[in-house]
Amino acid sequence: MMDPTVAELVERWDALHKEGRFSALNVRDYWRIKVPEIYSPSPNCNCLRILFDEEQAQKMLFDPLERFMCAGDPTQVYQMVKQLDNPPSLCGRVFKNGDPTYGCRDCGMDPTCVLCADCFKNSAHSKHRYKISTSSGGGYCDCGDREAWKTDVFCDIHVKGQMVQQSKNPLEKIPPDMVERIHLIFDCILAYAKELLTYEEGFSIPKDLEIRESDREPTNLSSLYDIKDTYVTMLYNDETHTYDQVIGTLEKAISCSQKDAVAFATSIDREGRCIVKCSNFQNCSQTKSTMEKQTSRGGVKPLKVQVMETYIIAHQIFASRLLVWLHNILESAQTFRLIFSDIINKDGGTIVESIIWTDTKMWKTARVQWHRLFISGMLMDQESKKMFARTFTKHYSKMMKDFILDDHDHSVSVASLGVQLFTMPTIAHMLVAEEDVLARLLNTFLSECDKKLKDNKLALEHRSSNTSSFRRIQYILYDLKYLLGVKPEVWTDDLRKGFLHGYSLLLRLLSMMQSMDPMVRQVGTHMEYEPEWESAFNLHIKLASVIPLVTEWAASDRIVLLKAYRMLMKSLGELGNEASRRRYVRELLDYSVSCIEYDVSSAPVSIHLPLSRLVAALTLHLDKYDLNYNSPEFLVKGKPSPEELMEPVLRTQVMIAQVHAGMWRRNGFSLINQIYFYHNVRCRQEMLDRDVMLLQIAATLIDSNEFLVHILNRFNLMNWAREDYEVNYYKSSDEDNMRQTVVLVEEYLQLVMTLVAERYTPGIGQVEEEDRIKKEIIQLLCIEPMPHSLLNKALPEGPNHETGMEKVIDEVADFKKSSGNAKGFFELKPEYYSHYNLFFYHYTREEQSKSEVGQRLRKKGAGEEECCPPPVPPPFTVPFTMIVNILQCDVFLHIIKTVLKRMSEPKTQSVSESQLQKVLHLIGYALHEEERYHHNNDPYFHFTRRAQKINLLSLLGRLVGHRRTTTHKDLLAWTIKKYHAVLNLSSDSAKPSQASEAVLASTSSSDMASASAEKKKRADIAAQRKARIMAKMASMQQNFIKTNETFFKETPSTDQPADVPEPMVMELTDQLPENMIAIGPRQTLMPPQEVTYTCILCHQEDRLCRSDGTRGRPMVLGALIQRSTVLSRNRSHHLDQPETHDTLILPGDLHWGAHTSSCGHAMHANCWQKYFDDVVTKERRRPYRYRPSMSFDVEKSEFLCPLCEALCNTALPLLPGVTWASFGLQDQPPPPTLSLPDWLRGLHTILKYKTVMVNGARPSEEGGHSDDAQMDTSPQPAGMVAGHGTVGGMAAATSVGAGGSAASIPMGGLPGRGRGSTNTGITTFMKAVPGDGGQRVRPPRWSRIAFYKKHKKSGEGKDEEEDSASSNEGEGMWTPPSLPEVASELAAATSSDSAEAFTALFHGPAATSIPDFPSQTLEMMSNFSHSVYMHGLHVNPNLFSRRIPLMVWNSTAYTIHTLEETQRNSNRALLTSLSSRQRDCLAALVKFAAYAPLCVKRKQTIEGVAVRLLSLLLEGGDSTPCVLEWDVFSILVTLTLSLPSIFPSIQGIATGSQQDLHILQVCFLAHIVQLLLTYEDPGTGVDMEVDEGSDKTSEAGDGPWLVSMMAHCRSLASIPQIKVQPQQLLDYVKRNCLSYLRCCGLFFHFLTEVPAPEELQSSVWVPESEFYCLLRYLGLSVNQLRPTFSDPPLLELVNRWCSHDRVGPLVCATDRRDCVRHWTHINQLVSLPHDYSELINTVSQFPCPASSGDDSRTPTMCLVCGKMLCSQSYCCQTEFPEGSRQMVGACTYHAHFCGAGTGIFIRVRECKILLLSGQIKGCFVNPPYLDGYGETDQGLKRGNPLHLDATQYSKLHAMWLSHSIPDTIAHTMESNSSVVATEWQHL
Ligand SMILES: [Zn+2]
Ligand SMILES: [Zn+2]
Ligand SMILES: [Zn+2]
Ligand SMILES: [Zn+2]
Ligand SMILES: [Zn+2]
Ligand SMILES: [Zn+2]
Ligand SMILES: [Zn+2]
Repeated sequence: MMDPTVAELVERWDALHKEGRFSALNVRDYWRIKVPEIYSPSPNCNCLRILFDEEQAQKMLFDPLERFMCAGDPTQVYQMVKQLDNPPSLCGRVFKNGDPTYGCRDCGMDPTCVLCADCFKNSAHSKHRYKISTSSGGGYCDCGDREAWKTDVFCDIHVKGQMVQQSKNPLEKIPPDMVERIHLIFDCILAYAKELLTYEEGFSIPKDLEIRESDREPTNLSSLYDIKDTYVTMLYNDETHTYDQVIGTLEKAISCSQKDAVAFATSIDREGRCIVKCSNFQNCSQTKSTMEKQTSRGGVKPLKVQVMETYIIAHQIFASRLLVWLHNILESAQTFRLIFSDIINKDGGTIVESIIWTDTKMWKTARVQWHRLFISGMLMDQESKKMFARTFTKHYSKMMKDFILDDHDHSVSVASLGVQLFTMPTIAHMLVAEEDVLARLLNTFLSECDKKLKDNKLALEHRSSNTSSFRRIQYILYDLKYLLGVKPEVWTDDLRKGFLHGYSLLLRLLSMMQSMDPMVRQVGTHMEYEPEWESAFNLHIKLASVIPLVTEWAASDRIVLLKAYRMLMKSLGELGNEASRRRYVRELLDYSVSCIEYDVSSAPVSIHLPLSRLVAALTLHLDKYDLNYNSPEFLVKGKPSPEELMEPVLRTQVMIAQVHAGMWRRNGFSLINQIYFYHNVRCRQEMLDRDVMLLQIAATLIDSNEFLVHILNRFNLMNWAREDYEVNYYKSSDEDNMRQTVVLVEEYLQLVMTLVAERYTPGIGQVEEEDRIKKEIIQLLCIEPMPHSLLNKALPEGPNHETGMEKVIDEVADFKKSSGNAKGFFELKPEYYSHYNLFFYHYTREEQSKSEVGQRLRKKGAGEEECCPPPVPPPFTVPFTMIVNILQCDVFLHIIKTVLKRMSEPKTQSVSESQLQKVLHLIGYALHEEERYHHNNDPYFHFTRRAQKINLLSLLGRLVGHRRTTTHKDLLAWTIKKYHAVLNLSSDSAKPSQASEAVLASTSSSDMASASAEKKKRADIAAQRKARIMAKMASMQQNFIKTNETFFKETPSTDQPADVPEPMVMELTDQLPENMIAIGPRQTLMPPQEVTYTCILCHQEDRLCRSDGTRGRPMVLGALIQRSTVLSRNRSHHLDQPETHDTLILPGDLHWGAHTSSCGHAMHANCWQKYFDDVVTKERRRPYRYRPSMSFDVEKSEFLCPLCEALCNTALPLLPGVTWASFGLQDQPPPPTLSLPDWLRGLHTILKYKTVMVNGARPSEEGGHSDDAQMDTSPQPAGMVAGHGTVGGMAAATSVGAGGSAASIPMGGLPGRGRGSTNTGITTFMKAVPGDGGQRVRPPRWSRIAFYKKHKKSGEGKDEEEDSASSNEGEGMWTPPSLPEVASELAAATSSDSAEAFTALFHGPAATSIPDFPSQTLEMMSNFSHSVYMHGLHVNPNLFSRRIPLMVWNSTAYTIHTLEETQRNSNRALLTSLSSRQRDCLAALVKFAAYAPLCVKRKQTIEGVAVRLLSLLLEGGDSTPCVLEWDVFSILVTLTLSLPSIFPSIQGIATGSQQDLHILQVCFLAHIVQLLLTYEDPGTGVDMEVDEGSDKTSEAGDGPWLVSMMAHCRSLASIPQIKVQPQQLLDYVKRNCLSYLRCCGLFFHFLTEVPAPEELQSSVWVPESEFYCLLRYLGLSVNQLRPTFSDPPLLELVNRWCSHDRVGPLVCATDRRDCVRHWTHINQLVSLPHDYSELINTVSQFPCPASSGDDSRTPTMCLVCGKMLCSQSYCCQTEFPEGSRQMVGACTYHAHFCGAGTGIFIRVRECKILLLSGQIKGCFVNPPYLDGYGETDQGLKRGNPLHLDATQYSKLHAMWLSHSIPDTIAHTMESNSSVVATEWQHL
């Protein structure tokens, strides 16, 4: 509904309009009152959350406009107008930052032509070679723009718009009245917005919008005038102050929290400004001055702060909304755009003009809104675009000058629109011809250069304050490149004029650069400072993309080329001076040459010669128009002679040669860098390549002999060329000089060779562009096979960043994928190896030698001569033919004669092998050339005839067999052979000389026979291996069948395996020790093995510490403990309160655990301690600022393994096996057996007489043996704050020892209930423990003890006390009765035999024989267990925590779980391909866990644990976790390892005894109950598969038993019954309990060291077979499951477990996550879309969760849970840990909860995988997305289409699953020591 006042208003406007009296003033008068009312911020509001009544705004402000404009219902009108150009033929969608954009490399005019995702998906380009990237915002979709695409201009959506017949002018189709109304409104809005958004110092609001005195009057709104008195403090963005400075300032100035300050700063950065205070004038001014003062320290410009009236702000806000509104309207229809551009262009574009002029005065958002408006309003229409382009060009200079002074990014400057205008060829050509745009741009640029002239040369100072302005001005060069992007097809006089005007200014710029940054060779001392060079190269790189375009334009028209060349000659002439004309005469042979006087080794030389290089570029095109250098048209004053022309370039070449000769050593890195870039592929096209070209041009203009003398002279080698050099000159010079001369000669020969042989430039050789690219590729692939990206990077790019590689690559190379590597490589096709040119001028020295080694090896392998003779070069083009004459001229012959002759003389020193090699190559080229001329019947070139003068053949012959020529003997042979071949061409009579024959014979051919033998051998080995595998497979099948006879009888389809011959099975079973049993009475005991380790630090060997403690020093492994959530089956569960968490068992959903890993490298404990202390000291000394980049954190006791650099945070002691004592007892009579029921009865007896003391309920006088009490009496370790006991504790302390009398163990069941006798004689450890004493209280019922502490109030009690405090509170003190007590009770209840057997379990020799560890070992053990506790829980140190042993056992269980899952994940049998690292780690960990009770501070802790766990398992109780919440394997581990020590005074150890088998059975049963309770009907018609017959046969088997068990369990728990076929249920159970059995298998294998059956290490995993194999190994009944659980007491347990209160509700819970259902589920990383662009699309709309509606800049997805985060951004930083004032990024924060501090993420826009760990460490690794060449593209730099690679992704998954992320990070951080430290916690 329309508001009545609005209706009235619109009526009034309508009436005025009809009278023709309506104007903008009417609207503005209304706004004057309404706008402040709606958009004024209210005083003292929360400036971070200023909300306006948008509904009201729409109703009162926008509705009237729309209604008036449309003269009725706006929706109808919009619909109608839209219809007129529906569908549109142009897309024009404006990109936001981060939107994906698609370019087409086949069809795009240039790389700036892009499509939006929608258009792309609907276009033909999706099947072309497209490129994907993400927009930085500001551009728009070019779909439908004919000048952007060569083909496929329209997508399927927009092509429809093209097909609809467009009316000439849509404006004619709508009523003129409406056009007028729209016109009026647009006009009004534009003027208003322009006036209000143009911010300037001292800005005041237009008069007609002011709040006046009259607004006080009662008729007006009372509030309006009040608004006038409210002010805001507005803070503006600048690029001078850092985020942190702004945040700091805000915190002080408006006293807000750090979090709010961050929010303000973020908002300022996004919007460009932000209101930080809203109050009265005084308060606001106060804030302003505080902020200015804060930020102006040290002479810096202060932050821009402004105090403004709120109603002005209101108008500005409204104006900005109006622009958005207008933009949306313009986007919707062409009609609106036409009216809009009409207004804009009205007075020659005054609005555009004023926006351009005031652009830098506005804040970010306002600017961007205007720019978007121009795009949507002006750029969609050809004519408007032209108009806009003209205005833009007119004001270009002013605009750029403003931009330089401004500090905002180019992308938010109006200048950034240049790319939209200049890239359109028609507009560009128009602007060149009519607006003199080139000159305008260059003049603007030159005016900035003029400020930097020094002796008419540009002198760019790196550190000067103007650097940034010079950097900013270089954006002009991009615009220049856009304008010249497409050369004109048709030239007009205006165009020529415009182009040449710009060209003349470009020449001025190049003249300024000619010889800039000159260098003088430093002699004596080193350079004092490194001269600046980077700025010049930066400028060069930008110009290097402009100059080829200029050349192309100039070369496309004869007139332009003529004039351009003349102007160039003139410019060169102007640079010449007197000095450059000085000459002297040099003589060689009969030639006397007038040379330019210059000495490169003492006078300045520059690498920057753009003017000379332009000559080279243009000269190549002269021939096309029948022109040449000497044409009369170019006779201008000062035109350089050919010698003068090449002189600057030649000097550069000589300088580089001298650098190679070591003559410029003292000039430092500046020079080295310049030379590097001179040759580098990014720069060389306009440097090295042009220089070679220019020298080649000069070679055609100068007589060959003179030319060579000129060069020889510049190289300062005139003396060298004299016959008597060695005699008269060389001897006198020092050694340094001699070496230099040798190298200079090499360099000279190389240069000559380059000039005569490099012909792959179109215009110089008879080649096309493609041949040039092919040549580059061939040379590159001769170095080594290369992946696509590397090859592409090594090739020079054209102006559109294309290398042209794809066009030719398939012709010259094959793409090969190596196995196991996703990345493929290009390999040169064999036929192209003959094109290899060892002296290719683009090779670096490394590439040259690498390729030579490679090619020689290849040739050797192929049995060819071991040399790389010169390839046949293509012929020169006509203008360059003269160059070949060099190869037969007298000076050339003289030079080669000189080298060859000196080579053959024994004592000469001025020659080298390299000289010989180069001379032979030169001869080779000459011979190739003669051959070519001969075939063309051209007698001009006749090298062999000319060479007779110097007797070349005999010179060569003399070198054959010479000791100096051995390296190149094959090349020499090749040359002589070739020589004869060429000779034979002309004279048929000649025959190959004897000498050459001899040489040829000496060349060995390859041994073909041996190669084929090798091949056969390999094939044989492969066949053998295959046979072995097949045999193994068969035997395994057979074993499987044999083991499971009953099973196979039940299953109908088992006939075929009978084919396998019987004897083979027998044989195998004999060989393999298949009946290994790890635990129970039938345990297979193996002789204990002595293991020897070598310490990686001192390299001494040592045997493992044994019982007597004398042999071997204690050793440790570096280990890493990490808290983990990797195996979690419920990610909504977190370990929230690690300080108080009860660690008795691992939770059933494994939502947390502590993982232990090790690299398996052993060290002496002493050596390690020393190493670790060193590391710590070194790190502490390191300056703080370098710490964040460390790959390990000493604060968390991290260090790197000294050998392999694996990350560690503790040391795991290496301990001996546990069964050595039992093995020694083998001959003794076996211990009496104890049945499972009797054993259980014994355990129940323990529970019956246990004592539980709960802290709260404990009367103070009973303060017997509290933890705290003993804590106080023990010495406090360093680093631990002393815990103060409670009063009760203190009291207890005094009673210590009261009842503690030393006594020996009462054997034979001494009665007597008074306990408290601590045996001091059993172990040394026990001696240290003070005797305990005190009275007992009756055990409370379970219900009195809160097992799970739901919510403990945190903050109470000091950290260090928490653990013991909580233990007292929650767990209480659990104390067992004594063994004799239990034994006597048991004897009474059953028989004395049972009691004896029970006693023997705990007190037999096997159970209690424990090595006597030296104190150092005990200390290491204690340290390690404490580390597990600390790192595993992330808690503070507390050496006395009772959770320490529990954590060790939990970690053991968790680590085994992890290993089991990783093995299963890669489809491996239990022990298959375990690395020695994994084996060593687990072996050490399990053994340690077995000995863990020895190192606890109080043995009672262990006793308590055992009693509690027994109670949990056997008694249950509703306050305990129910069976479904258990991780039964962790119960097994803890119980197995703690039960032997349950009785006071007895220290026992688990050895795989009968008791362990019983525990295994009980836990197994619990697991089966879990499975049966959570069984779910698969719902498929499986039951159809099971036929009646099989049902009957399995009646007596496990199936029916399980079915009845399930019914029993489910009815007890009140869970609905499920009907299931027995076989089906049996399969289910077997499948699902395998992982439990595998864990048990691992555990007991490493505990007892009983060798595992072969099958567990087989390369083929057959789960079903493994199941039976494990049953046997674990000493269980193999044929049937059922007997394992047949004892009635077990059924009682089942009843107890199932009737637990929570079982039913858990299974039936609505939140399915509450209950584990898939017990064997392996967690996967989130599934990612196959096509990478899909992933980008899905996140392109992802808003930052912290700021309302803004897009996130770095959207990052957690690969573990799939959550999307706004990473690396201030907006989403959180203070963490709370109260620490340390801010962390969203990823770090998320990783803390999701992955317990470790995280794996994908940064979507950059296609990078981010790994994080331990808050301050992280790294990027390769993403799983690969392009067609199997390569990744981190950061989307190449933009090839990317697809998910399953193998790569599964590698990441495996890394995560195996807990290797922290290690990967450490390794990655260690290997790239980048200077800039990433602050990973901010990501
Ligand atoms: Zn589009
Ligand atoms: Zn389209
Ligand atoms: Zn295309
Ligand atoms: Zn050592
Ligand atoms: Zn290591
Ligand atoms: Zn954010
Ligand atoms: Zn997550």
